[in-house]
Amino acid sequence: MAQAWKKPGGLEADSERIARLQQRLKGLLEEAALVEVELSRADGTIRGVPHYSVIERRAHALGKQLSQEVQARQMRELAASQSRAAKCPACGRVCDLEPQKRTLQSVDGPTEALELKGHCPGCRRAFFPAA
Ligand SMILES: [Zn+2]
Repeated sequence: MAQAWKKPGGLEADSERIARLQQRLKGLLEEAALVEVELSRADGTIRGVPHYSVIERRAHALGKQLSQEVQARQMRELAASQSRAAKCPACGRVCDLEPQKRTLQSVDGPTEALELKGHCPGCRRAFFPAA
């Protein structure tokens, strides 16, 4: 690989890490599929020889649940990585930001998100810092 720069740990370490994470995710998805099939039989959703649409609907619901988990995790990590202070958009005073839970409506259903919200004591108003 011809790269002008090298991060500590090297590029090879990054590709090994990606391969390890992909392998781990594949294993977790296989495990989730196994548990889902067992759960669908235990709760009686899947009995005997069901119509394929029943299998598909149940599988798709699990996919949406995973999507919601991933979105919530991404939003939590994004909030954790942002500065805990921002200028008030009205007066420019630097104010503390507090994490606040908010439910977002994603295409895969509601997702709990953490957003940073400021409150300016001077202007006596709340604000969301610019993304
Ligand atoms: Zn202000």
